[in-house]
Amino acid sequence: MKLTILSICFLIVLSCKVQEPNKVIKKMTKHKYALVLHGGAGTISKSNLSAEVEQQYLTKLNEAIDKGESILKSGGTSLDAVTQVIMILEDSPLFNAGKGAVFTHDGINEMDASIMQGSDLNAGAVGGVTNIKNPILAARAVMEKSDHVFMVGSGAEEFANMSGVETINPGYFRTERRWNSLQRILEKEKETGLTEMELPDSKFGTVGAVALDIHGEIVAGTSTGGMTNKRYKRIGDSPVIGAGTYADNTCGVSCTGHGEYFIRYAVAHDVSAMMNYKNLSLSEAADQVINKKLVEAGGSGGLIALDRYGNITMPFNTSGMYRAYLTPEERFVGIYNE
Ligand code: ASP
Repeated sequence: MKLTILSICFLIVLSCKVQEPNKVIKKMTKHKYALVLHGGAGTISKSNLSAEVEQQYLTKLNEAIDKGESILKSGGTSLDAVTQVIMILEDSPLFNAGKGAVFTHDGINEMDASIMQGSDLNAGAVGGVTNIKNPILAARAVMEKSDHVFMVGSGAEEFANMSGVETINPGYFRTERRWNSLQRILEKEKETGLTEMELPDSKFGTVGAVALDIHGEIVAGTSTGGMTNKRYKRIGDSPVIGAGTYADNTCGVSCTGHGEYFIRYAVAHDVSAMMNYKNLSLSEAADQVINKKLVEAGGSGGLIALDRYGNITMPFNTSGMYRAYLTPEERFVGIYNE
């Protein structure tokens, strides 16, 4: 009898544990809501950004954070906040995502995006898409309207189209600035024989957002054109769940940087794992990955992250990262190492 009661208790405890990922954790929230975003990390310094261009970036980052704020403040979901924030950055030619995406070696724009929801670990991602106006919407469609997590190329485009996501003529993504970068890199490649990823001045520019809403839900998303001069249908970390994007009940993370390193080091998931297994705080865990593990490996980039209490961190090991964050109490928009 005693044994049966014990076994029942054990089963109840076990079933509670199994249920854990499905629960939105609301209690002990430090901030009612929180939002953090990035527009890419890289060789960004005051000396290579004119005051006018700097202002354009700051204005766009402010517009994006305002949009997220209006959604979260009025009780909207982190899923909508992340989607809308990323769409604003994708629609801007300033960032390497959507319009303004970098060019591949063959002179086309191939984009990757992903999104993940912390409460149920549901996620969606697309890779190498060429005609979807807002790749983040395609990633969200994969998450919400399919049983899959990751779709690539023409299959992803077909699914997005069937799901009502807007498609557009690929010429829309072209900007002279990115075209000229490709030409410069092709020239250098001819001179040095090194591919773009080996050249020291590779620049990044992915966009991403992570939000915690008043319901306690954490969502993270990332969108990118990848790296200039990429070839062989190369896909980076941005659409890889656990590498460029991750969200669970502990934290949400979106990365930017040299994707190959972020995939090898499973960077986004590693932040959550270190918090869970080593009991590190959000900022300690993120700092370990970006400023220790990646620096030792030679991987450059940064990440943005928030935890379930609304704590925020934005470490990067490059000279700058376009970034912003917001809670009901605080607001920050920055570019350099300030
Ligand atoms: N992480 C992206 C990639 O490797 C690039 C970036 O963040 O700018 O595709």
